[in-house]
Amino acid sequence: MDIRAPKGTDDILPPESHLWRHAVTTFDNLAQRYGYGLTLTPLFEQTELFARGVGEDTEVVEKQMYTFADRKGRSLTLRPEATASVVRAYLSGGGDGVFKGSYSGPMFRYERPQKGRRRQFYQVGVEYIGEAGPFADVEVIELGYRYLQEMGVPDVAVQLNSIGDVADRQTFRTVLQEWLRERQELLSPDARRRIEGNPMRVLDSKADTEVTADAPTPAEFLGSDSAAHFAVVRSGLERIGIPYVIEPRLVRGLDYYNRTVFEYVPRQYGAAQSAVGGGGRYDGLAEVLGGRPTPGVGLAMGLDRILLASDGVDLGPLLDAFIVVAEPGNTSDAVGLASRLRLEGWRIDIDPGGRSVKAQFRKADKKDARAAIVVGTEWVDNEVVVRDLARGVQEVIPVEEIGQWLTNR
Ligand code: AMP
Repeated sequence: MDIRAPKGTDDILPPESHLWRHAVTTFDNLAQRYGYGLTLTPLFEQTELFARGVGEDTEVVEKQMYTFADRKGRSLTLRPEATASVVRAYLSGGGDGVFKGSYSGPMFRYERPQKGRRRQFYQVGVEYIGEAGPFADVEVIELGYRYLQEMGVPDVAVQLNSIGDVADRQTFRTVLQEWLRERQELLSPDARRRIEGNPMRVLDSKADTEVTADAPTPAEFLGSDSAAHFAVVRSGLERIGIPYVIEPRLVRGLDYYNRTVFEYVPRQYGAAQSAVGGGGRYDGLAEVLGGRPTPGVGLAMGLDRILLASDGVDLGPLLDAFIVVAEPGNTSDAVGLASRLRLEGWRIDIDPGGRSVKAQFRKADKKDARAAIVVGTEWVDNEVVVRDLARGVQEVIPVEEIGQWLTNR
């Protein structure tokens, strides 16, 4: 067949997909423990939402969006991220009070595909809207850190910075622009292009680290409110034992951030690249989208990269038992038994296709079952052979004791 999945997308199938499900449910449980409620928003939105919300001068909006016209000629875009959507949903619902929402799902960006950089990729995240105080930042940063611990990503550095409020950023931007213009010819073409539109992004351009090593940084321009906010974020993190490092040149790619920005970088990745997640405060976003000024802070974690960086999580066996049909004549009884055990809540699979017993045992192994239940000659006496596949021991037990036997494994 010559129809393939589009470039930069993946088919995630069992058994690998079990790990992905685990990643999503782990985040979902964690977010619930922190008081976030599941938030589902459309996979596509009016293009305007991202153009305004993410920012016209960002790389995402400039060249990474999947934008198309629908049958009525309306411009729609597959979501490249979820924060703008969640804030839009909050505003659509009246935009009142504090809202804590969590999400998971695919995002779409037209990027040059490589390992950990996909065109359809998966994020989990939370948004804490309506709270301006620094302890909201602390909570969100903590949640992301705990998530990486639960997902077996070792030795994560939380990189932290404050980029100040709008006024602070404006002052900084002007100074930085001037500084960069004076060094234009030393910069990469991409960085040079960004001087006018989005100079702050030059600071985290990998190709330009040598030139920008002693560029001015946002920290030097923080107003007293931003500085006080940042101080509480830092002491709050220290208080609950979340290790962090100040990364003065961390600015993040999306336009809507102010004050706190952060990224999670597994130390094995070395330099300030390959974050597995990140986030920040976005107090100006609601207003940009036409709502009342409403503060907010959130994070997004990339599952593709987290699973690459993980030392592995032990999911245990995927099936409680695989039912082996000893003779084709036993098929109907075996299928009946499967039905009953599944109804009781056990994870059961069976191969009713008349294959050899040996082939069925191979399948039991392949499907990662912890036990095999053989339906054969003992069935007339209401008995089956149960085999513990990990230990390689088996015995004959009455059918009504299967549940008990599985429980005791
Ligand atoms: P961002 O929304 O750009 O801040 O990204 C947040 C996280 O999403 C990153 O730290 C990555 O883990 C992940 N991510 C962003 N873009 C991609 C991509 N194209 N492919 C895979 N993961 C991505």
